[in-house]
Amino acid sequence: MKCSHCMVEFHDKIYKTHIAWCESYTGWYVLACRCPSCQKFIIHLQEDEKRPFMVFPSGHSRPPVQSEVPPGLAQDYTEACQVLPISPKASAALARRALQYVLRDKGYKGRDLNAEIDLLLNNEATPSAIRTSVDAIRNFGNFSAHPVTDQTTLQVIDVEDHEAEWCLDILYDLFDHFYVKPAAAAQRKAVLDLKLKAAGKLPSK
Ligand SMILES: [Zn+2]
Repeated sequence: MKCSHCMVEFHDKIYKTHIAWCESYTGWYVLACRCPSCQKFIIHLQEDEKRPFMVFPSGHSRPPVQSEVPPGLAQDYTEACQVLPISPKASAALARRALQYVLRDKGYKGRDLNAEIDLLLNNEATPSAIRTSVDAIRNFGNFSAHPVTDQTTLQVIDVEDHEAEWCLDILYDLFDHFYVKPAAAAQRKAVLDLKLKAAGKLPSK
């Protein structure tokens, strides 16, 4: 698992304790482990065989959204992360809206998300890693099949838990490709141009 404190991946023994005050009661468990990297505890609660949910640290175990991402988009992503442990479907709905925002913001506009994903995949400048992960989205439930309109923008989507989490991974990669890397490149160019100017030369192209 990934440590929710320091984000380092680790494998460690999970101590499972039955919360019991009556012999016949089977129900809730505490799952506790300690990150070998930062030494902090991570605690989940679990009812029977249901999906455990994290109670400490509270919230989600995903990296924070990059500072270069536009504010409204960053908010959708952050909320999608926060609701993931409670409702993967709601998380996927927010992630889908964020995905469509990114594509349209970058000029990929089509009749529905599927068409917009096609435009991105057909662009030869799209790196192969982005191509592979975005292509996978089309296999998730009805994620991209239905048109996203003002009425359906936050329509609940039938996805598996791991698919909802994967959507957030893909979004994070897209943020990196579309917002973080271009900002870093612009920063490098600005520094270079300053040096050229100081040397009495024309700016770089
Ligand atoms: Zn840690």
